[in-house]
Amino acid sequence: MHSPDDNQSTLTVQLADEAATAALGRQLAPLLQPGMIVWLDGDLGAGKTTLVRSLLRARNHSGPVRSPTYTLIEIYVISRIYWYHFDFYRFNFPEEFLDAGLGEYFRDDAVCLVEWPEKAAGYLPAADLVIRFHFAGNGRTLDVVACSEEGQECLRALKRNWQPHAAD
Ligand code: ADP
Ligand code: MG
Repeated sequence: MHSPDDNQSTLTVQLADEAATAALGRQLAPLLQPGMIVWLDGDLGAGKTTLVRSLLRARNHSGPVRSPTYTLIEIYVISRIYWYHFDFYRFNFPEEFLDAGLGEYFRDDAVCLVEWPEKAAGYLPAADLVIRFHFAGNGRTLDVVACSEEGQECLRALKRNWQPHAAD
């Protein structure tokens, strides 16, 4: 068990602009493994979709990355790995997760990236990583929290590599 309050399990980063969010996505991209679940927790416009877009581009997806707000899920297959990008903003009840049969997407050969996880509370499988987005002036502050052993490994590597102003 890893408490989210344990400093060893959290990395806090200041992201001054969109380019900084994209840089974090690029650094996170190679660290995510099939089977991992990432919750992206933060208000509208906080940068959740921006982070996913840079992450998928860094994994060599060249097409568009659209917000799944209306479609619930956007699907990418990159180098035989499935990437499922969810957005549950429009859920009125968490039970809609079950009604839509979404549980079957959470498999060992897929990486699941979930916006608005709290809207599916009680049904959504637990996260390996939770990324909390906060508005901070014109920029954003993100807490990256490890919630499993796989998440810890990922976070340790991110802490080693994290460069706030990594070039594009
Ligand atoms: P969400 O998916 O959380 O609703 P989006 O990624 O769709 O948010 O939109 C985020 C908006 O904020 C975009 O206009 C993007 O350019 C901007 N943005 C992203 N990261 C930052 C940042 N670190 N600082 C300031 N603006 C940012
Ligand atoms: Mg979004």
